Amino acid sequence: MEKNQKQGGFSDEVWNQKDLQEYLDGGLVFGYFSGNYFRRDTFDALVEKTLRKQGWSALEIAIWLTSTEARHFQDQVDKDVTLKMMRVLVGDWGFTNYAVKEGRVPAKPEPVKEVSQITAFMHCGKCLEELPAGHSPRSYASLEFGWTKAGFQLWCKRHEMNVLNADLMGNKVRAL
Ligand SMILES: [Zn+2]
Repeated sequence: MEKNQKQGGFSDEVWNQKDLQEYLDGGLVFGYFSGNYFRRDTFDALVEKTLRKQGWSALEIAIWLTSTEARHFQDQVDKDVTLKMMRVLVGDWGFTNYAVKEGRVPAKPEPVKEVSQITAFMHCGKCLEELPAGHSPRSYASLEFGWTKAGFQLWCKRHEMNVLNADLMGNKVRAL
């Protein structure tokens, strides 16, 4: 085993990832672990901590360590680099999550944005027909929305009539 093919400052959880161990066993080792790099446990731990803070899993970190980008990252690091300098290098580096990019792990759902994501509005047909001057369909709408036994319903309060009645066919729904 080359001197750089050691656990160093990485957690067991990252180090023991099958993808990483298989890569190291594969013989042609580059990535973060190429022969001539100057590794320090504190540097390793800083890289892992930084990626964890970005929400990466141990597998995602392990896969990054095997990447060409990890090698380019290590190109900056020599024996004169201090931990303080390393913090700057890590902070400035735009880490690419190859595990997600290459489809090796499913992408995380987008964080829910607290803005309307409606792409097309639903309106009561009668309200649209009689829309008074100076009103928009939205300002004139008088709708209520709620669960039914089968799914959900959108109801016009003005006309006491159905706008949409959806049957979820027994499917579960998830509030985003
Ligand atoms: Zn209506």
